[in-house]
Amino acid sequence: MGIVDEDIERIRTTVSIVDVVQGYVALRRVGQNWMGLCPFHAEKSSSFSVREQTGRYHCFGCNAAGDVFKFVQEIEHTDFVGSVEHLAGKAGIQLRYTSGGESRERQRRKQLVDTMAKAVDWYHQRLLTAPDAREAREYLRRRGLAGDVARTFRLGWAPDDWDVMSRELGVASDLLRETGLAFTNKTGRLQDSFRGRVLFPIFTDSGDPVAFGGRILPGSSDPAKYKNSPETAVYAKSRTLYGLNWAKADIVAQNQVIVCEGYTDVIGFHRSGIKRAVATCGTALTEQHVQIMKRFASRVVLAFDADAAGQGAAERFYEWEQKYQVQVLVAQFPAGQDPGELSVSDPEALAKAVDGALPFLAFRLQRVMSGRPVRSPEEKARLAEQSMAVVNEHPNADVRKLYAGQVAVHTGLSVADLTRVAEQRNRKPTVRVTPVRQYGAAENAEFVAVALLMQRWDDIAPWLTEHLFASDTNRRAFLALAQTNGSVEASIEAADPDAREVLERAAVADVEANPEVEAFNLIAAAVRRELSRRLKLTDAAAIREDSEARQQLDQLQAGDAPQRAAEWLLGWLHRRNEERGRDR
Ligand SMILES: [Zn+2]
Repeated sequence: MGIVDEDIERIRTTVSIVDVVQGYVALRRVGQNWMGLCPFHAEKSSSFSVREQTGRYHCFGCNAAGDVFKFVQEIEHTDFVGSVEHLAGKAGIQLRYTSGGESRERQRRKQLVDTMAKAVDWYHQRLLTAPDAREAREYLRRRGLAGDVARTFRLGWAPDDWDVMSRELGVASDLLRETGLAFTNKTGRLQDSFRGRVLFPIFTDSGDPVAFGGRILPGSSDPAKYKNSPETAVYAKSRTLYGLNWAKADIVAQNQVIVCEGYTDVIGFHRSGIKRAVATCGTALTEQHVQIMKRFASRVVLAFDADAAGQGAAERFYEWEQKYQVQVLVAQFPAGQDPGELSVSDPEALAKAVDGALPFLAFRLQRVMSGRPVRSPEEKARLAEQSMAVVNEHPNADVRKLYAGQVAVHTGLSVADLTRVAEQRNRKPTVRVTPVRQYGAAENAEFVAVALLMQRWDDIAPWLTEHLFASDTNRRAFLALAQTNGSVEASIEAADPDAREVLERAAVADVEANPEVEAFNLIAAAVRRELSRRLKLTDAAAIREDSEARQQLDQLQAGDAPQRAAEWLLGWLHRRNEERGRDR
């Protein structure tokens, strides 16, 4: 069997290869060509080139090349006929076959998808109009999932009945069974798989319905809160991401994909105007999921309780980061709230959480370091060892050294010592305490800066901005001082209780330090933090800017013309923070 040549040529001439490739890869115009990151090999700079006039693509990195059919074959893992049918489907071209028609497998797949499409419609209409769906409609309204949202996401209602869908759908029973919509029960009769549930239809990234996720209503006696379609010929959980069909365009445009835990989280993000969220369908994130996401974006933001993802997942995440050249970040939400709830109660918090997402390693490090006292030398050493154990899980030595610097700043230990620990990755980290700064109590650099502000305002104030403070409490203490022009009493009055505690201690601290040196230490630490958030840049201009920042940082630390470097770096930090504000 085959497809009539004329139809193949019609596709070749009517379909734009640039449009097709852009469904998978973000392209920008360079002269006659369109360039982007190659979807067939991992790379950081664009070497994948597409030309409309010749209808061909070519990668200078891995030498992948071909026409539009070859591209679809490679990226969709299909054969030639499959690629022609795929493109014909998108272009709305009816194909004629030379003999035998479509392959049986393909035909069957189409029947299964058609059956699912009918079921999606049937359940959706049921939700919108049936009297028995009133409770479901009210539940969805309370969760912000009614009206347009229900229509956009084609939500449905499976009535609390044995077989009403199977009877009314008008589809052969073997198709109902093969799609998992129904099954044969003990009495030998066909029974609906979903009953008394709100249904979230699940589509492939090209928009074919392949499964349902079903949720009970509150107060239901059914013990299973969620129930999903079984795996079928058209549905594999480990290769399916809920919401990808709606999110694809924004994921490519933003080079970022947000991964949630549940269907309502995805919808919550979309409602809040963040249309690049997807969810796994009742499974953990798999390598195949990452492979799919990599086709569209290089930044993956996890929007679920990453406590659960902690230690065990770290190794896999780092491996995927290297293998697929993606960066895994973690968004943090106000305690106990999921994105679905937040989209109703505080949509802005959603954007903020995504915006402030931390690299996975930074996130884990923060968990180890935050809220831990570091007063005695022993406490410092212990905290540094635990922190470095987390840092040393990372396979890349440059990354480990960067974070070793952060641990040093946080604990007040020597950067050189901790960098050495980061170099000897396979050994259990042991940290000797060799204090590097000569101030009285074992306090960290941020605290010293606050204390110096109280005592020698004119010398240090010009060098400090709020972005230099990694600790939120210290930052608020700084702001209270800044707002009151360094007045000890007024700032203590104005501060919140935690910041006040810092200010009260700083007011009596015995600090012997050079204000400029301390300020430059803070600037260096903030620059290192900022650089570590941006480990996997792909934009050429941003890469250049970051490398300039690294040079200035070296200059600052080497001590030649540190003032000029400090000024430049403060400007850079300011721009970075502004940009982050704008991205929101
Ligand atoms: Zn390539």
